[in-house]
Amino acid sequence: MAYEHVVDRDRCKGCGLCVAVCPKNVLEIGNEMNPKGYFPAYQARPDDCIFCAICCTMCPDVAITINEIAEAAAGSGARRK
Ligand code: SF4
Ligand code: SF4
Repeated sequence: MAYEHVVDRDRCKGCGLCVAVCPKNVLEIGNEMNPKGYFPAYQARPDDCIFCAICCTMCPDVAITINEIAEAAAGSGARRK
């Protein structure tokens, strides 16, 4: 089974905690503002993600989820949101 990593842009407050804790340096804060006026995190280097879920655990706003996806959809770029 493959996985996708999703940041809920509307829920994220751009605090940067997930960026700091990611052991693979996958995440960065984006430069596009969400409707609440925050700059959400995103996967700048999705191919490096090992789906350890540390970012999901650390996010105080529960803005990150890791979902199971069908193998056929893996690698199609669906992991980046
Ligand atoms: S799941 Fe792990 S490797 Fe992937 S972005 Fe989150 S902390 Fe980084
Ligand atoms: S820890 Fe959560 S709220 Fe903070 S930047 Fe990451 S996804 Fe956004």
